Amino acid sequence: MTNKTILSELATNPSCMDDYDPNSMPVTKARQFIKQFLSPVIETEVLPIRESLGRVLAADILSPANVPNYDNSAMDGYAFNAADISKSTELKVIGSAFAGKAFVGGIQSGECVRIMTGGMMPKGADTVIMQERVNVEGDLIRFTEAPKPKANVRYTGEDLQLGKAVLPIGHMMRAADLGLIASLGIGEVNVYRQLKVAFFSTGDELASIGKPLQEGQVYDSNRYTLYGMLKRLGVEIIDMGAIADNPELLEKTLLNAAKLADAVITSGGVSVGEADYMKQLLAKHGQVMFWKVAMKPGRPLAYGKIQGNQDKHAHYFGLPGNPVAVMVTFYQFVREAMLVLMGQPNPAPLPTFNVVCTENIKKQTGRTEFQRGILFADNDGTWKVKPTGAQGSAILSSMSLANCFIVLSETVGNLDAGALVQVQVLDGLV
Ligand code: AMP
Ligand code: MG
Repeated sequence: MTNKTILSELATNPSCMDDYDPNSMPVTKARQFIKQFLSPVIETEVLPIRESLGRVLAADILSPANVPNYDNSAMDGYAFNAADISKSTELKVIGSAFAGKAFVGGIQSGECVRIMTGGMMPKGADTVIMQERVNVEGDLIRFTEAPKPKANVRYTGEDLQLGKAVLPIGHMMRAADLGLIASLGIGEVNVYRQLKVAFFSTGDELASIGKPLQEGQVYDSNRYTLYGMLKRLGVEIIDMGAIADNPELLEKTLLNAAKLADAVITSGGVSVGEADYMKQLLAKHGQVMFWKVAMKPGRPLAYGKIQGNQDKHAHYFGLPGNPVAVMVTFYQFVREAMLVLMGQPNPAPLPTFNVVCTENIKKQTGRTEFQRGILFADNDGTWKVKPTGAQGSAILSSMSLANCFIVLSETVGNLDAGALVQVQVLDGLV
């Protein structure tokens, strides 16, 4: 079965896949399942280095030169030939080499050159002694302890070698990479085009900022957290607004979103007991699966593809409505999917490790819980974690307080203070 048929079969008949249970989908299985349908953008563009920050390379970057380009000193000191030193620890200073101003000529036995950090090694010299280790008398230097031969020299190509791949296709450009590329004299890079992501909130109860709340209304916050999370990923954002639970409006917005974007994210309207509009619409215009993922928060989740222009399909992610659930499902499913769509074949997972939790934790077995936690250094400087407090799916302040998720797997139950727990670091993402 091709991926496309699996998806359409599953949309109509989820039982066609072995041990696929839409009413209790394990987190890891849902993640793997989504991954097989993700085909990255293919269009590329050439950008000046600075604009490539956060973008994904569409081709290997090969080094057009050795870096460094010549042997140079790593210290302020004196350059000499190590083979000389067994004979004498007294050397004559015959000139100087500064960064950008080389010593002309070579050195002979018994000679050395005053050299500054970055200065080109004179011909015949292979070692540098730090200036603090020598006694200077007129044009002579003396030292008692010679450095190891070849010490304190940065050799040609020790950072990057001519013709070798410096950064591979699929690499996301970070600050260090901009400098690395600049150090090669390369001014432009070939990257995948920006991913376009459209999103909208659904719900009759949603009010927009600027309007007073009527009874029974809540302000739409999901569009703002989604905006923040997507902005951090560096995608092009198309905010389609808050849409009431009205089939015509939802249909119009959904189709428009699928035409405009590579991926469409909605919040709300995918849980059981909702007016079934989204489900019907998604069945009509695409192939979408609805899961109850065995997790908290974030139980309802939908994934699939919606018909956009002609034969173009947009990826669809239907997130729950609860504000914390939106963020948890985004970080557990959508973030990685977006990175793959942006051209990174194997995105790095959020940094995850085990630490001691300083408080009791209430937890039900049979589902993965992503409790909000605060990683902190105790008085000894040891990093530990504590929960943020109330863990309800609607308590968005818990996400603002948190710098990590405490990830409690399906088999884990209540835990006493002092237990080792797994944390996923969010700092910088939240
Ligand atoms: P739903 O998944 O549509 O049943 O929504 C679950 C809960 O999340 C309800 O309490 C909604 O009012 C709330 N909710 C849904 N969408 C939003 C939103 N955009 N901003 C804030 N709360 C929301
Ligand atoms: Mg709703």
